[in-house]
Amino acid sequence: MPRCQRTFERLPEGATSPGTGVRRWVCACCDPPEAYETLRDPDLLHYAGLAENACAADFGRPADASRPTLLLLGLRPECVLEPVDRRYDIYLARGSDPLQMRLQIGHEVFHRCCSQGRVFHWTHEMLACLVSLRLLRRHGAADYAAREEARYREEARACPLAALLAADPWASAEYPPGYYGRACVVGLALSEAVGWDRLRRLARRLTPAGVPDVAGWRDSLPPDMRIAVDTCLSPDTPENTPFPNRTTSGTIPDTDFSGGPPSESAGGGTGGAARAAA
Ligand SMILES: [Zn+2]
Ligand SMILES: [Zn+2]
Repeated sequence: MPRCQRTFERLPEGATSPGTGVRRWVCACCDPPEAYETLRDPDLLHYAGLAENACAADFGRPADASRPTLLLLGLRPECVLEPVDRRYDIYLARGSDPLQMRLQIGHEVFHRCCSQGRVFHWTHEMLACLVSLRLLRRHGAADYAAREEARYREEARACPLAALLAADPWASAEYPPGYYGRACVVGLALSEAVGWDRLRRLARRLTPAGVPDVAGWRDSLPPDMRIAVDTCLSPDTPENTPFPNRTTSGTIPDTDFSGGPPSESAGGGTGGAARAAA
C-alpha cells in the first residue's frame, strides 16, 4: 500500500477502475484528501525501463534488482523503499507534463538503483540530477534538458556549495533553497573535470558505514584530476559562493523556468517513508 506523502501514513485500501486498470487510493488523513494512482501511461513506463537499463549499465545492476518498482502519481517526486512490501514506490508529481515526468523518472530511478532507500547524500542528489539530464538528451529531449540545466544553474545561485555539503538529506525536513541546482552544477563541474566514467564510480563507492566515500574516490584519481576535484569541491572557489545579486553569464529570465517541474521539496529525495519504515 502506498503512503500519504504528507503524513507518511499508509493509505487505506485502494480500488482498481475496471476500464483503465488504474488503481487509486484516497488519503484518509488529509483535508482535502489527495488521491494517489498507479501510472499506466505506456510511454512513461517504457521510459522508466530505459532509465533502469541505463542505470544498470552505468552503475551495475542493484543486488535487489528483482524487487519490483511501482510508479505512482502523487504529490512530489520521491523514491521510497517499502521493506515490508518488498517493493520500491516511485512517486511522481501529478499534473506534470510528459517531459517533466521523464525528468522525475530519471532522477528517481537513479535513487531506486543506487540509493536503495539507504543512501541520503548530496552526491546521490548530484548523480540523480545528472542521470536525469543525460537520459533526456539520449532519448530525444535535448532542448528540454538544456532548459532544465539552465534552470538548475539559475537555482544554484541561491545555494552556495557550503550549504549543499552541510545539509543532511536524512535528518532535514527541508533542503536549503537551490539545493538541487547546486547539486547539479557541482556534478556538471566534476563531470567536466574527471569525465563521466570516473564520476559514475562515486555512486557505489561507500565507506563501511554505508556513506558515499568521496575522499576515497578522490584519492583513486590521477593527481591532476585530484586537484581539479578539490577546486570543484572547495567552498572558496568563486563559482561555489554565488551571491543572489551576483551577475552570471547565461542568466535566463524568470519566465523560462516557470514551467519547471515541482522539484523534490521538503524532505523529498529518497527520504520519507523509507525512514519511517526503517
Ligand atoms: Zn494525505
Ligand atoms: Zn533526489
